[in-house]
Order: sequence, then structure tokens, then C-alpha cells
Amino acid sequence: MIDREFLNARYWHLENRLRAIEASIREYGDSMPEMHRDYKIKQMIPSVISAMKKIRFCPNDYGICQDCGEEIAKGRLMIIPEAECCTKCQKKRKSEAAYVF
Ligand SMILES: [Zn+2]
Repeated sequence: MIDREFLNARYWHLENRLRAIEASIREYGDSMPEMHRDYKIKQMIPSVISAMKKIRFCPNDYGICQDCGEEIAKGRLMIIPEAECCTKCQKKRKSEAAYVF
């Protein structure tokens, strides 16, 4: 079970992230170059919003890996608060993606 303080800090982090993404979208609009760092960030919006909703409405589900159901390491959530899966499953996802392409 993740403590309230940690959840609040993650929520704050996510909110700032979302604002930064929105600001750069406003700045670049649809002309954002595909190679631009923020182009990738734009694709992260759904996971950022879904993590924020989890913290607000079902905090018990936050920080649980979507693939294996294990707890995601706090250190990982500190860096990627919107992480949907643990490091192990993320590696698996990546290698599967690499296999597909
Ligand atoms: Zn996992």
C-alpha cells in the first residue's frame, strides 16, 4: 500500500508534466517536428491522465503493474509517475515491440 504523501507528490508531478506538455503543444501546434522531444511527450498524455485519475479515484490501483499485477518500484514511480508496468514487464514490452518491427 502506497502512502498518501507519496501519492500526493506523484499527483503534483503528473499535473506539472501535463501543463508542460500542453504548453509546448500550444507553442508548436500541429507543426511540431516529429523529431522534437515534445512530439513523444504528446503521446504520453493519455497515460499521464490515467495515472492522475487512478490517484484521485482508486489510489489502491496506482503503482500496480498492468501486466503482472506486482507493485511497481517506488524509485521507478519517482522518475516515471505515469508508469503502467514494472521494469521487468517494460523490458518484455520493448523486446516484443522490437520483434514485431
Ligand atoms: Zn510487471
